[in-house]
Amino acid sequence: MKKTYFLVIVFAGLLVVFNSCQKSTSYRALIITGQNNHNWKVSSPILKQLLEQTALFSADIDSSAKKGSDMNAFNPDFSRYNVVVIDYNGESWSEKTKAAFVDYVNNGGGVVIYHAGDNSFPDWKEFNLMIGLGGWGNRTEKDGPYVYFRKDTMVIDTAAGRGGSHGKRHEYEVRSRNLEHPITKGLPARWIHGTDELYSQLRGPAKNMEILATAFAAPGMGGTGRDEPMLMTISYGKGRIFHTALGHADAGGGPAMQCVGFIVTFQRGAEWAASGKVTQKIPYDFPNVGAAAFRPDFKELTLEGDLAKIATYDFTKSTKYFTDLQIRIRTEAKTPEALINFEKPMIKLLESKDATDDGKKLILREISWMGSELSIPVVKELAKNPSLKDEAEFALARLQGAK
Ligand code: ZN
Repeated sequence: MKKTYFLVIVFAGLLVVFNSCQKSTSYRALIITGQNNHNWKVSSPILKQLLEQTALFSADIDSSAKKGSDMNAFNPDFSRYNVVVIDYNGESWSEKTKAAFVDYVNNGGGVVIYHAGDNSFPDWKEFNLMIGLGGWGNRTEKDGPYVYFRKDTMVIDTAAGRGGSHGKRHEYEVRSRNLEHPITKGLPARWIHGTDELYSQLRGPAKNMEILATAFAAPGMGGTGRDEPMLMTISYGKGRIFHTALGHADAGGGPAMQCVGFIVTFQRGAEWAASGKVTQKIPYDFPNVGAAAFRPDFKELTLEGDLAKIATYDFTKSTKYFTDLQIRIRTEAKTPEALINFEKPMIKLLESKDATDDGKKLILREISWMGSELSIPVVKELAKNPSLKDEAEFALARLQGAK
């Protein structure tokens, strides 16, 4: 065997091992979304990215519960997952789906309640036991007490009144109430959270609930003057629930979701809900009481952005943009017309003088099955390029076969 061939084989083998290492995540997460008075189209993909960044999770998004859809058709198999993230505030689920969710949590399944997730299902008793506290949806004293802190004491307040409010959005200090819990252990006792709503006057059964962190709702900002719960844990059956009231989504996530404090507590809370422990290290950029900290490079993936990144792709780089493109095509392109809306910018990339050959190879691979005769001229042209010849001829054969 020639030495170069041998090296190529060894290198290819290493790539396979490397790739399979990357994919061996510990936990499976399911993000439930599709109906929300918040911008779930922004928040859910970000939550997915945050989970996958930990390298502990692979995450699926189930947005089949679209507004106005037949809720009987919404039937996720919760039991396949270690944690279910609720980015949902919408219509009631079917009795069958509710029962499956209760079974899942009773049997030890983890749950993360994210921001307006705690507005959901005001009339579903078991769900309210899982979230501990909720807001809006005509919640009142009939749903349970207010719970908040006064100085260092937790107050359970049965006064009559609405459940759920917030004042003006602003940056605020989050104060830990238990630094020994796996989620908060090692975090600063106080840190500044990026501009967000400060959920207040939440009320609910508050059974088997622990408040890990609060924030003071300043009257000057339209707040209650109380230390309101921001991070909570609840146990239900054998299941663990992490509840974060933080993270109102603006375009690109906005300051509330780009806040390192939100990101890290969400990631740690999800790991704890899935496993009962937290192995993630506290990152160096975690905020302190001096100032909020952001990860502003955190951008929502878009078709244009994906294609721009693929145009600069070489095999040493992440294929996440290509993966995102593939997911978009599979989920968004349900008709031949919709496929052509993807095919056209992909043809542009193939025609571009600036795009890399490695990027073009990825596109050729995809276009070989989803392309139409529109792609044939450029693919024929690329078959003349020695470094793209194999991929182009393969695609051409399939495109001409399809025709
Ligand atoms: Zn909000």
